Amino acid sequence: MRALLFSDPSNLPKLVSASKDIAEEIHAITWEKIAVPVDRLEVIKGALVNDCWVSQLHEEIKTFDLMLMPATRDSKEIASRLAAKRGLPYISGALSLKASDGLLTTRVVFGGRGIEELKISMPAVITVNLDVYEPSFGEPKSVEERKIECSSKISSIKERERKTDVDLTKAQVIISVGRGLKKKEDLSMIKELASLLGAEISCTRPISADLKWLPEERHVGMTGVKVKPKIYLALGISGQIQHAVGFRDADTVIAVNTDPDAPISEISDYFIVENLYEFVPKLIKAIREKRKEKSN
Ligand SMILES: Cc1cc2nc3c(=O)[nH]c(=O)nc-3n(C[C@H](O)[C@H](O)[C@H](O)COP(=O)(O)OP(=O)(O)OC[C@H]3O[C@@H](n4cnc5c(N)ncnc54)[C@H](O)[C@@H]3O)c2cc1C
Repeated sequence: MRALLFSDPSNLPKLVSASKDIAEEIHAITWEKIAVPVDRLEVIKGALVNDCWVSQLHEEIKTFDLMLMPATRDSKEIASRLAAKRGLPYISGALSLKASDGLLTTRVVFGGRGIEELKISMPAVITVNLDVYEPSFGEPKSVEERKIECSSKISSIKERERKTDVDLTKAQVIISVGRGLKKKEDLSMIKELASLLGAEISCTRPISADLKWLPEERHVGMTGVKVKPKIYLALGISGQIQHAVGFRDADTVIAVNTDPDAPISEISDYFIVENLYEFVPKLIKAIREKRKEKSN
């Protein structure tokens, strides 16, 4: 099988690992020279927007059995447009790839609850979830560098680094709030508790995306951050699967909810049926008293 890989330079070494067991011949395209063990590395400069890559790869893809890209936001857009343009089958976010009279792949479904097995016939376009792959480094057998001129109706004006004040993925203790919180002002008691516990604050999507009480980078879940703290304290959160996939790697989950049947009761280690407006002040008071006792 001949595979064409297209990737940003940082993901390319892992994409090469993903393709090694299924392809006899590997060609890779990226925009900065990088040492990867492929048959041919093409370094193409000048394609500043996705439109340019779609028209460029549309020609390149013709002679290959398989086109692989990382499952990043940009690559997924390029891959789906290419597949549609060429009338090829497309799988997004494959976890594994195995040659078998075509290609067998798996991918996560139902927000992480299940794994789907899919068989796809060649030629095909696939974006790969690279989390499980180790990078492959080595000298390419041949390298070609060129610059292209690209005219597109879209032009990139400026790229800015996104500044975030928090990295939830590294937090050891997280207090997460959901729609059980009634007003934005009530975040002050959550902040007080967080500062006593040395915790970061996160939330469900409605709190950040709909109510805008906390910034987007603090929402946990399928479309947000995946966290793995030692303690995840969920206050007024129902535990819908789209949120739950974001904290499933937490060591200990403690949930406080007025509804004894809230879905989070099934997935938490400690489930406390209580009003968070009673629970949080009581906990703050208890911590303060304990600390006072210790200091006396
Ligand atoms: C495509 C898609 C992607 C999504 N991605 C995400 C995602 O990444 N992250 C995410 O979080 N959501 C996501 N969602 C939304 C998700 O489905 C849920 O709607 C959301 O997680 C629910 O948020 P919540 O638990 O805060 O609110 P609710 O479901 O309304 O739950 C509020 C809970 O608070 C309890 N409660 C009420 N008052 C109190 C009180 N005083 N004390 C204690 N408990 C109280 C209630 O009993 C209830 O269980 C997504 C949805 C879709 C369709």
